[in-house]
Amino acid sequence: MRARQDVSPRSLIRDQCRVCNRIESPRLCTLCNVVPYCCRDCMLGDRSEHRRFCRKINDARVAICDTEGKIQSRLQEDTENPWRWPSFHRYMEARRSEIDALIAVDTYEAYKRAWHQAKDMLLFSKEDVLGIHYYIPFLLIRLRKEQRLFDYLNWYACRPGESIRELDLPEYTKKDIFDWFDVDNNTETRGSLYFFTLLILLKTKFLIDIYDLERPPEERGDIAKPVSRRLRNASARDLQRFKEHLSFQICLLHDLRNFKNPYFWQAFTQPNRFLNVEINPNWQQGSFEEAQFVLQKTHRAWNAIPEARAAVQDLQRRRWQ
Ligand SMILES: [Zn+2]
Ligand SMILES: [Zn+2]
Repeated sequence: MRARQDVSPRSLIRDQCRVCNRIESPRLCTLCNVVPYCCRDCMLGDRSEHRRFCRKINDARVAICDTEGKIQSRLQEDTENPWRWPSFHRYMEARRSEIDALIAVDTYEAYKRAWHQAKDMLLFSKEDVLGIHYYIPFLLIRLRKEQRLFDYLNWYACRPGESIRELDLPEYTKKDIFDWFDVDNNTETRGSLYFFTLLILLKTKFLIDIYDLERPPEERGDIAKPVSRRLRNASARDLQRFKEHLSFQICLLHDLRNFKNPYFWQAFTQPNRFLNVEINPNWQQGSFEEAQFVLQKTHRAWNAIPEARAAVQDLQRRRWQ
């Protein structure tokens, strides 16, 4: 095992100077446009540190621009699935490299551009050969766009005419879930590891909102506004009831996840031990490595939110002593 990155990143603040943390009329690095500085001195002082990150973003940009024109014109003429062309692969890989380089920079502005890039890649290519959808939750949590994540989950996991409701999302029975897991190599979206990870994280978010709503207004945390409209208008008694309901559902999902993949809960409760390992990049769907990949990315984003850490600890105390 090799330590790779801190699993407790800081919260991101838009326009915050990378060097001195001041938030005032920032200027962005003129090369990558995603790192804010309050003044020229801060920009120059950070240059040696920022240079290699900046270069990676620009290298990816150059690779994208080099191939973009040809790809666009071939797409106009050729009706074949473009994933069969090596040039299309290279083009899309360059776009993914830009996302990776932006994530490494770790500023609000960089995540915002990475999110736009990822979204555009998913809309642009019919198949997600490079696994871009795995980036979406991480990017959205880091940008604190939980409502978007909820909408995304609905889009990703639901059949036409079906939707996941906020607090009941979705109303699984134990039998349903065991039935899904009984199928070998389950390709059913709702049975997938990825879907379960997201569902647990989102339910945790709803629970965090409840904890936050139960505090007096002046003590409320970083939560901008609760995702669920039902939560926002609920009475104290209803909040208590929802809390029990959600805790039960999260525990059920965790238990079932553990049944299928014991790594999940260990990673959640001991991130420093389990989330710092290098992952084999050729992981298969439904594998241990897939869980590692999704969890490393999403857990890191989630862990930047103090209320999320507190809610998970509280769940641990209540259910898993
Ligand atoms: Zn500064
Ligand atoms: Zn730069």
